[in-house]
Amino acid sequence: MEIFRTVSELRRWSRALRAARHIEAGGIGLVPTMGALHAGHASLIRAARARCAQVAVSIFVNPTQFAPNEDYDRYPRSFEADCALAQAEGADAIFAPSVEEMYPPGAAAFVEVAGLSDRLDGASRPGHFRGVATIVTKLLIAAEPDLAFFGQKDAAQVAVLRRMVTDLRLGTEIVVFPIVREQDGLALSSRNAYLSATERIQALTLSRAVRWVEAMAAQGERRAGVLLEAARQIFASEPAVRIDFIALVDWATLEPTEVAAPGTLFAVAAWVGSTRLIDNAILG
Ligand code: AMP
Repeated sequence: MEIFRTVSELRRWSRALRAARHIEAGGIGLVPTMGALHAGHASLIRAARARCAQVAVSIFVNPTQFAPNEDYDRYPRSFEADCALAQAEGADAIFAPSVEEMYPPGAAAFVEVAGLSDRLDGASRPGHFRGVATIVTKLLIAAEPDLAFFGQKDAAQVAVLRRMVTDLRLGTEIVVFPIVREQDGLALSSRNAYLSATERIQALTLSRAVRWVEAMAAQGERRAGVLLEAARQIFASEPAVRIDFIALVDWATLEPTEVAAPGTLFAVAAWVGSTRLIDNAILG
């Protein structure tokens, strides 16, 4: 497995593969991550391995998607273990650039996905999706992958990136894989490492609400008001968990919907102590 630190190394790798026609079957796959890799990331690398001839995993804690008061400085970093996990899952290359490599001094170019970027997480984390769209654009321009793999865990991010790739004609297909959970239902997240033992139990409120709404929808309840109220009731039973948002939206536009239809996104974000967690379901 190769480790690249600069955009030009990554680009040279990708272009050499194309020139050598090593990638005709399946193409090049990219799995963008911020590191602190867990089984959720591993599932994406495995999916990329299964579909693509060559797989690159990027590991970059992207400063522009964190607000000044957020956890950029203390975000978990575990490069050695990440490389071992990526290699075990069959990655061919790691791209782990410095901040200066991705944002040259004076960097002033950003990618904005208007409208979508201000909804759900974008409403409570102003500037977050601008940072995400900017870094993913830079990664896609550098690696020119055929496929890029993302988790449904960040469902609003997926909506923003699909719109961006379509609008900018970036030519990479966005592939989305399901949320990987702990046995008790908690969605895996690098931020789960912040939780105390008590908070770890309280955090189950999110997946409980998601499962409950999924079950109600599966039984035919379509009224958004009823589904959202049911979710609120579940949060009411755990007052230590503070709701950021609970929403039923069209997954493409992130606009609220009155009636849950197949493909509607039910998304929650909540604070457990000082840790903000998210979870969601795409209703069947
Ligand atoms: P992150 O490192 O948190 O930026 O995540 C990198 C990628 O892994 C994103 O596409 C996430 O949606 C995805 N991901 C994170 N957690 C999970 C999970 N529990 N299951 C599946 N994918 C995940």
